[in-house]
Amino acid sequence: MLSYRHIYHAGNHADILKHLTVSQICRHFIKKDAPFFYLDTHAGIGQYSLNSEQAQKNKEFHSGIARLFTEDNLPEPLENLLDIVREMNPADALSFYPGSPKIVDYYVRQKDKLHLCELHPNDYPTLAALFPNKRKANVVKDDGFTAVKAMLPPPQKRGFVLMDPPYEVKKDYQYVVQALEDGYKRFPQGTFAIWYPVLNRQQANTFLNSIKATKIRNVLSLELCIRNTEEERGMAGSGMIIVNPPWTLEKEANEFLPVLSKLLAEDSEAAYQVTWITPE
Ligand code: SAM
Repeated sequence: MLSYRHIYHAGNHADILKHLTVSQICRHFIKKDAPFFYLDTHAGIGQYSLNSEQAQKNKEFHSGIARLFTEDNLPEPLENLLDIVREMNPADALSFYPGSPKIVDYYVRQKDKLHLCELHPNDYPTLAALFPNKRKANVVKDDGFTAVKAMLPPPQKRGFVLMDPPYEVKKDYQYVVQALEDGYKRFPQGTFAIWYPVLNRQQANTFLNSIKATKIRNVLSLELCIRNTEEERGMAGSGMIIVNPPWTLEKEANEFLPVLSKLLAEDSEAAYQVTWITPE
């Protein structure tokens, strides 16, 4: 089943948390000269027109990137993300929002390499057209979970994997844990970042417990909920699980999450958490 289209959700609160995390991981990797590898298992179309009919349908970006776009004096990681968004919107009007491949593309050097998987028959060609240079980015119409086995360990011996499935089928929760175990076995020094929705506390805890049960160590979780998690109103928030996070990420998250939870709050129960699922 491939009915999910990310363009309906582009630039919402969940994208902000995910892309902030991806941006900070990239900044960590480019601190060293050695090339790095990036695997995006569920890449989407790379960038999104916020004026499109689809993005305009529910205008999810209004309660996400639109609330940050005109803010000043934000914590540095947020300013870094906004630099990328502003570069795509030189006229000061918010018309485009970057997907995860574009965030990484902003940072990569000639020597780094991207491998981007997108299975949707309409979204794959859009993404492939955005990255025509095969030497820089390999765009494939493959199952991202399978790619974790096929592409790891990378020849660069350093890099990170983003797993951002739509969870439109419940099995995605199992697949992502299995892919993490498979990937970690092959590439234990790699960084793995997994996005997950918070529909309610119990569902999120069940997922976090399944990550804990892998016994993989050095796993950080960042979560941002923009409203009460127990009202039956769909996604109240989302989280990122990061295996082998940059050592600075915990401190940075403790600076940007309080600001984000204030700016993106939809009720007085907006909250964030920074927790170690398993320490090093
Ligand atoms: N990572 C993107 C970003 O941050 O901009 C958004 C990705 S979106 C949440 C999930 C994408 O995964 C959709 O475009 C969907 O078509 C694609 N997809 C679904 N199942 C897939 C699979 N097994 N392998 C690769 N792509 C898949």
